[in-house]
Amino acid sequence: MKKVALLGSTGSIGTQSLEVIEKHGLQVTALAAHSNAELLAAQAKKFHPEAVCIFDPAKVEQLETMLMGEHIEVLCGMDGLCEIAQAESTEVLLNSVVGMVGLLPTLKAIEAGHDIALANKETLVAGGSLVMKNAAEKGVKIYPIDSEHSAIFQSLQGNSMNRIRKIILTASGGPFFGKTREELLHVRAADALKHPNWDMGNKITIDSATMMNKGLEFIEAKWLFDLTPDQIEIVVHRQSVLHSAVEYEDCAVIGQMGVPDMKIPIQYALLYPERVECPTRPLSLTDYGTLTFEKPDYDTFDCLRCAIDAITEGGLRPAIVNGANEEAVGHFLRDEIGFLEIGELVRAAMDHVKGGEVTCYEEVLEADQAARAYVRERMTKK
Ligand code: NDP
Ligand code: MG
Repeated sequence: MKKVALLGSTGSIGTQSLEVIEKHGLQVTALAAHSNAELLAAQAKKFHPEAVCIFDPAKVEQLETMLMGEHIEVLCGMDGLCEIAQAESTEVLLNSVVGMVGLLPTLKAIEAGHDIALANKETLVAGGSLVMKNAAEKGVKIYPIDSEHSAIFQSLQGNSMNRIRKIILTASGGPFFGKTREELLHVRAADALKHPNWDMGNKITIDSATMMNKGLEFIEAKWLFDLTPDQIEIVVHRQSVLHSAVEYEDCAVIGQMGVPDMKIPIQYALLYPERVECPTRPLSLTDYGTLTFEKPDYDTFDCLRCAIDAITEGGLRPAIVNGANEEAVGHFLRDEIGFLEIGELVRAAMDHVKGGEVTCYEEVLEADQAARAYVRERMTKK
């Protein structure tokens, strides 16, 4: 019975992870959320963790009241997340919080020697070099949950001796693929929140619409699989059936297919290397009939170009792009800026915020905060 601490348990990935955990009888050592105290309390009563953490201090009292008599420790804020991440009773930290706020708990879990099942892509985008270096030093394994990275990880099995020519990172293209910038001028949050294939949290749904999500995944892939940017090819595949693939030296391409359901990669990350029944449905290729593959449109979806430029330049650039994007997406979700302004703000932050090398967490945090502050400052001048 693997012992799992789950950060972001009330979200899209978090709730699906609990379904997988329940199906296979894994043990939950801790749960954490931002502010959804009701759902967190209900999950805690069902899974009996040792501790729960609510990030928002205003919700602590409510959570404590709901968990009265349950003998579950109630923690709060970043200190609480880090305490959970390091707890001795944990074997795997499943990190499915949204945003770069997940970086420090990931680093703490690695320090404690716990393996990581990672959905929180912003962690690798902002601090990939630190995470991978520390994990290698500690002998900690990082199991990807993002479906594309899980597909690559699955396609690498049994091939450790073979050289990768490139990886094919597939992208659904989001709800606006094929549109021109003119057509996207008046897009609002409600339009962008309608994703054709996946039901996800709001932030990643907007990232999918701008295709920043694929840019973040490009950076995530670079770190997870030790690739150079020119070894990663983004291919738009509208049906989200081929979740990504690896091309080897002999030009053989090995990919992983399945229905678009995150429970498959979540389960693979938690039960690796076992393949057992999963609470999902099988793939019927004949129901799909046709699978299509196209080139991305980097001019319309300029966020994608920003992310690739950032990782090509390296250092703190990806942390700046990520911080500016998190901030800009927040403004877009509140209908304070237009859809195309997200990419414009990210590019402006990239051009104006000081970069440099990454040697420690504090530098990443500083770059992240400088990028957010830059976007906020631009907003006040609007
Ligand atoms: P959601 O918005 O659905 O859920 C986010 C979760 O994180 C919630 O439980 C939220 O709590 C919690 N959270 C947010 N901030 C904090 C914080 N400061 N401290 C503690 N908990 C926090 O997001 P998703 O599940 O969609 O995405 C999670 C991550 O996984 C993202 O990085 C995303 O890019 C990645 N991912 C998601 C996929 C998907 O299909 N959804 C696919 C691949 C990757 P609360 O409910 O209280 O706000
Ligand atoms: Mg993905």
